[in-house]
Amino acid sequence: CRRNSAEEQDSYRGQPGVCGLTNLGNTCFMNSALQCLSNTPPLTEYFLRSSYLDELNFTNPLGMKGEIAEAYADVIKQMWSGRHYSVVPRVFKTKVGHFASQFLGYQQHDSQELLSFLLDGLHEDLNRVKNKEYIELRDEVAEEAWRNHRRRNDSVIVDTFHGLFKSTLVCPECLKVSVTFDPFCYLSVPLPVSKERVMECIELFTTVETLEEENPWYCPVCKKHQLATKKLDLWSLPEVLIIHLKRFSYTKFTREKLDTIVDFPLRDLDFSDFLLRKGVSPEEPPSRYDLIAVSNHYGGLRDGHYTSYAQNKDNGQWYYFDDSKVTYASQDQIVVSITPPCFRGQEVTSLRDLLNWDLGCFLSKPVLNWF
Ligand SMILES: [Zn+2]
Repeated sequence: CRRNSAEEQDSYRGQPGVCGLTNLGNTCFMNSALQCLSNTPPLTEYFLRSSYLDELNFTNPLGMKGEIAEAYADVIKQMWSGRHYSVVPRVFKTKVGHFASQFLGYQQHDSQELLSFLLDGLHEDLNRVKNKEYIELRDEVAEEAWRNHRRRNDSVIVDTFHGLFKSTLVCPECLKVSVTFDPFCYLSVPLPVSKERVMECIELFTTVETLEEENPWYCPVCKKHQLATKKLDLWSLPEVLIIHLKRFSYTKFTREKLDTIVDFPLRDLDFSDFLLRKGVSPEEPPSRYDLIAVSNHYGGLRDGHYTSYAQNKDNGQWYYFDDSKVTYASQDQIVVSITPPCFRGQEVTSLRDLLNWDLGCFLSKPVLNWF
């Protein structure tokens, strides 16, 4: 169980997916986001099957000529080959910096910022819609909004990660109500005021708020900007739900990190109480989820460090990913303790660190398993 030398890498045979990512200089934010996505089964299987090769979109003006998708596929294939302790994601990092200059250097960034860029980039690079038709926006009903979204956006990312929320604005003066439905790729939720449960974050997300002075709404009846009340509701949830906790708060003058604990059951999270309508497809839609991956942030804004926990899709075991280092994670709540024969000095990390999470990926449970 010694660490890697070149020869050992050649002869190494390990569990596919249990593979570190070398830190190229403050790139732990990227590594932790990559580990979360790498351990998202439907997406990784899509890349390992090479399905992306048939769907690369080289002409999409919003895409990256397929280059981000190809660079991502290379990293995933190496990580799941079972032949490396750790992979050096240098080409991927260079591509990301090429298309999103904020990631060019070696400064620390938010994991969520990278994830957001990557999901968007993969979507556009793999968009099955080659010619986006113009669709006139009007007050839509949810099914129509979803259909319109799918007519312009159809990719493995939409299949896997996109849900729909409903946004209701009410003018304080004339009481005009405006309803729109918007797709989302992840939910960015506020931290709970008191403590503890992820459900509270969703509750806060769906609480009525009044728009701020800087961001008013133009009321078509009053014909002026109004500080309308706004309420968001979840309409439908995706196969893989990503929840981002807004731990970092930025104002004009301050940046601060909130260390509030957000604890939650790792299995069987039930969002059905928050769902307005149970789905955009005729089948029964997802509402119950198990945690499959989580990214953690330790420390302050500038000196912080990202790591991640994730469950391997093939053996069900949880691992702790700290850049190039991977260790078993003990997870009393889920996994019955198993003794690894030999794994990097047999270090075991506890999932209590979940308390620092800022990004969580949840896989929906098949409907049939509910009963
Ligand atoms: Zn009005």
